[in-house]
Amino acid sequence: MKIKVRFYEELNDYLPFDLKKKEFEIEIKENSKVKDILKFFKIPEKEVHLVLVNGQNSFLDKELKEGDRVSIYPVFETININPIKIVNERRVKESILYKKEKDFSICLVCERKCKIKEGRMGFCKTRINIDGKIYTLIYGEISSISINPIEKKPFFHFYPGTMALTVGSWSCNFLCPWCQNYDISKRAENIGRGKFISPEEFIEIMDKYKCDGTSISFNEPTLLFEYSVDVFKLAKKKNYYNTFVSNGYMTEETLNILIDSGLDAINFDIKGNKEFVKKYCGADVEKIWRNIKIAKKKGIWVEIITLVIEGFNDKEKDIREIAKRVRDEVGEETPYHLTRYYPAYKFNTPPTSVERLEILRNIAKEEGLLYVYIGNIPGHRYEDTYCPNCESLLIKRFGFEIIENRLKDKKICPDCGKEIDIII
Ligand code: SF4
Repeated sequence: MKIKVRFYEELNDYLPFDLKKKEFEIEIKENSKVKDILKFFKIPEKEVHLVLVNGQNSFLDKELKEGDRVSIYPVFETININPIKIVNERRVKESILYKKEKDFSICLVCERKCKIKEGRMGFCKTRINIDGKIYTLIYGEISSISINPIEKKPFFHFYPGTMALTVGSWSCNFLCPWCQNYDISKRAENIGRGKFISPEEFIEIMDKYKCDGTSISFNEPTLLFEYSVDVFKLAKKKNYYNTFVSNGYMTEETLNILIDSGLDAINFDIKGNKEFVKKYCGADVEKIWRNIKIAKKKGIWVEIITLVIEGFNDKEKDIREIAKRVRDEVGEETPYHLTRYYPAYKFNTPPTSVERLEILRNIAKEEGLLYVYIGNIPGHRYEDTYCPNCESLLIKRFGFEIIENRLKDKKICPDCGKEIDIII
């Protein structure tokens, strides 16, 4: 059967010389899958950012049929940029953290510490080197904006029941092939197609809709570093809180500047053990643990989350190890969220079972964590907060909604008097 294949930009480098054109028709066997196309052209799966079949996002083991159109996007798609034109755009701003070297400049915003040559972009494609200066391309470049309950982040012990104006931009500094927000995090090519919202406008929207604070989220907020700093400072002047929902891979310097600018709370994502994070995210998990400890030490409210993918990062010994480290290095009072994975982006393994999450939740409790939650299962009893002393129900939730809150006025269990670790 015949199908049409289209390649984008840098993937052309992987193709044999005589195939270096962007679009052509090939003949393949019946029942072939998307990954067979990659094998056919000897393209490593890790180089593939996104596959569309007839315009729809597809998994690599999707079966193809006669006449299908397959579009293959590389991890690093080239974006044509005119430096003179873009430095005048509002969304383009010189970065706060970088270092000039002789032949390149180093971006110091996240632990990738990309060495970026003149005219080139860093790993995340949100930063470019122009004349030795590094510019962010996404200052105020908003892909998504919404007013969310703070529980959605999730923060369960930080001003429960309040609303945060939440924004995200494009792209990511991680590679996670199961990304639940891939429609923005894997879309660096959309940079420039968002809506510009200045920090001042951000605050005006919060005033207008009576929000309680900010949340930089959706894609990796570290990439909105310069913007967050300006938003946080303005928000603090008006007594709003500031939050980040992050993979935690920022440099120490970035974290410290965010804290000094008014960051109040971070939800850190520990995606798994060292090997898992290295293999699937291309990152060093120890840097994230370091940042968690810095944030905690500096008095920032910290909650930790693991998206549990059955058969991948759900080994009991690994969750036990994470729980132990949270207990010993961050504190037993730190809320730990085990959330249910759903198939997305390049992963089509089935959603994590409720039973598996319950087993892991109990393991984390056994290790002495006081508040362990299960997420993405609305109505589950482990979405609720219980007193670690007398087990009384303190906050009843349904999804992101608070149904009953017995800690509204006092951080004390009304039944036994135990002080509860929560900010109200
Ligand atoms: S933010 Fe991170 S990934 Fe992006 S250019 Fe800077 S160091 Fe590289």
